[in-house]
Amino acid sequence: GCDGKFFVGGNWKSNGTKSSVTKLVEELNAGSVPSNTEVVCAPTFVHLPYVSETLDAGKFQVSAQNCWVEGYGAYTGEITAEALGDMSVNWVILGHSERRALNGETNEFVADKCKKALDTGLSVIACIGETLEQRESGKMFEVLDAQLAAIAGKIDDWSSVVVAYEPVWAIGTGVVATPDQAQEVHAYLRKWFADNVSPSVSKSLRVIYGGSVNAENCSDLATKEDVDGFLVGGASLKGPDFLVIANAFE
Ligand code: PEP
Repeated sequence: GCDGKFFVGGNWKSNGTKSSVTKLVEELNAGSVPSNTEVVCAPTFVHLPYVSETLDAGKFQVSAQNCWVEGYGAYTGEITAEALGDMSVNWVILGHSERRALNGETNEFVADKCKKALDTGLSVIACIGETLEQRESGKMFEVLDAQLAAIAGKIDDWSSVVVAYEPVWAIGTGVVATPDQAQEVHAYLRKWFADNVSPSVSKSLRVIYGGSVNAENCSDLATKEDVDGFLVGGASLKGPDFLVIANAFE
């Protein structure tokens, strides 16, 4: 494990109505979060100001799900890291596999966005992960290396980064990695950082797991030495379930 607090992120993706978001905030605020755990919720951009103002800041922080690679300017439809910071949104998820797959985000582009967000003062949840085909053809470590190397090539300071290992085959599928599968990759990533960045970054960096984490499977995964938290999609939309996950680390 690392030195930092356990980290649980909730990625609400493109979900939520005024009424469902209001209800989810109420449910979350009614729950408790242990002092050993940092919990961050990522609603859509349109819901972010409401959630940021109403979610209990003593227990939860908020995150965006993406940001633009450049600053303010003529980039119609994009949201800058500067605008997020100005709205007191201090976290951003970057490199999510859905954006890599559906929006064509390359390793280089994700790395540029990580640099931009960090330079602007945001903290970053940087997502990496292999597809089933890559895993089955023996390319998993090569793919993960390339995703990390692109980011490591552009940033020096990892103190505001959380790395989310999210095997694509486990995202939204109900097929969770076994605790041993997650631990194998997390240990590999920890060693990658020791070898390619520095032993101190390897020791302090949180490497969290994402992919079909739910209220039932979270406690087994949380026992694994190198699993420092979770990024949660589907189950983060259910207040009581997400609170169970936020309390998974003893
Ligand atoms: C995600 O999209 O980051 C994710 C882990 O989704 P789910 O929990 O639904 O698999």
